[in-house]
Amino acid sequence: MFLTHLHLKNYRNYAELDLLFDQRINIFQGNNAQGKTNIVEAIYLLALAKSHRTAKEKELVQWGQSFSVIKGTVERTMGNVSLEIQITDKGKKAKINALEQKKLSDYIGAFNVILFAPEDLTLVKGSPQYRRKFLDIEIGQIQPSYLYHLAQYQKVLQQRNNLLKDFSKVKKNKLEMLEIWNVQMVEHGAKILDKRLKFLKKLEKRAQEVHDGITEGMENLNIYYKSSIPLEKGLETESDIRFQFERIIEKYMPLELNRGTSMIGPHRDDLDFYINQIDVRSYGSQGQQRTTALSLKLAEIELIHEEIGEYPILLLDDVLSELDKKRQTHLIKTIENKVQTMITTTTTEGIDLIHLNHSSNFYVSMGK
Ligand code: ATP
Ligand code: MG
Repeated sequence: MFLTHLHLKNYRNYAELDLLFDQRINIFQGNNAQGKTNIVEAIYLLALAKSHRTAKEKELVQWGQSFSVIKGTVERTMGNVSLEIQITDKGKKAKINALEQKKLSDYIGAFNVILFAPEDLTLVKGSPQYRRKFLDIEIGQIQPSYLYHLAQYQKVLQQRNNLLKDFSKVKKNKLEMLEIWNVQMVEHGAKILDKRLKFLKKLEKRAQEVHDGITEGMENLNIYYKSSIPLEKGLETESDIRFQFERIIEKYMPLELNRGTSMIGPHRDDLDFYINQIDVRSYGSQGQQRTTALSLKLAEIELIHEEIGEYPILLLDDVLSELDKKRQTHLIKTIENKVQTMITTTTTEGIDLIHLNHSSNFYVSMGK
């Protein structure tokens, strides 16, 4: 798929902007604080109906304005799709071909992007929350139903935590209430975990191939899902997961009442990365951690293609110049002639322009 046109109105530092993109590589060059990432953010927003930088949508509206509009035309094999996000004081509207989509899970999936930003380089090293977010965003793009279960799970989790926190002031029927939340937590949590495990299995295979290529067969990458729910090898179907989750949640209830928070479930899970059987987070070099992050991102591109039959769009915000020549070459080989790519950078120095075969250059200055 390709993004052919982007229109911004009152968005961040853009009063009004219309851009036509090349189907291959588009480079946005400019000094700091000119509006490069704002463009990347707008494209990300069109795909996922939220910003990668902020949860406060009000920040996206240009200062002094009351609304913001982001529109895009996406060329897909089944035809053109027009997408629109409107942000006002009253909230956000998301439209596909001018039809409002009330549920986020109905909107997401029409347009797929993979974003690779400097903070992704810390995917391996950063906090577990970051790795969970990575899983949630990428699975949600391929399977919008995942987002439904995730939203339900988060609702239940919050209610359950409120109840656990307040338990000292408890009346009797609160224990019954807790049991009800348990049932719902297991219901949605088992779905989430099942989908995460299936996704990861496919992602790992792809990531291994990429990693193998970058390291010329010297390093073998493994990704493990660290679940707070004990799962036995071979017993990982959705019903196995549900069964185990039910058991452990009952077991942990006294402790959870004591601590006042939910201690078991996908919201507590994490990923571990190993290179040649050594834990990359604890022992990997910075280069190995970066290569792992890059392998994951490139693996996702292939995985989305495998799942939906089309390549997503790649957004590289300030990262290309951060990669050494070998990694750049690998990235370029992956995207060449098939993945539309938007690259932002302050300078083209350190970027392998010859092999990049870039096609459109944009110069960004003060929101223009
Ligand atoms: P860098 O190279 O440092 O990453 P950049 O070109 O990516 O810079 P952006 O993050 O895209 O910069 O843009 C930042 C600019 O946008 C800043 O000048 C900031 O003041 C401006 N800005 C951010 N939000 C708004 C807003 N709501 N209204 C108007 N301007 C805004
Ligand atoms: Mg930036």
